[in-house]
Amino acid sequence: MTKTIFEKIILREIPANIHYEDDDIIIIDDINPVAPVHLLIIPKKKIETLNDLNDVDAELISNMFQAAKKMATKLGIDKSGYRTIFNCNEDGGQTVYHIHLHLIGGRSLAWPPG
Ligand code: AMP
Repeated sequence: MTKTIFEKIILREIPANIHYEDDDIIIIDDINPVAPVHLLIIPKKKIETLNDLNDVDAELISNMFQAAKKMATKLGIDKSGYRTIFNCNEDGGQTVYHIHLHLIGGRSLAWPPG
């Protein structure tokens, strides 16, 4: 099966600016940031879309949000605010089919999204 860009980053086949890594997740800068802070929290386990989540992934997803919260605090946007987003499939704007949680902040974000 073809590797996604995120699998290649996890395997160090292509570079990324890595903020954090453990056995289950990696956190990198988005290559095309939409705000002063735009990180991606990526599970090492390949799950293509949110539709493919199983009950066994509950702890992993929880860990991803805990990691996002910690990164927001570390980067000083916890008080000003931030957004966490999973895009799913075409209408959701998903372009990489390996789930990832966007952490976006550092400026006021419009709502609703386009
Ligand atoms: P999504 O559109 O929700 O699937 O998000 C995919 C994100 O991955 C986009 O925000 C891209 O800018 C980002 N991205 C694509 N390639 C890379 C890369 N090589 N390193 C870091 N981020 C990337």
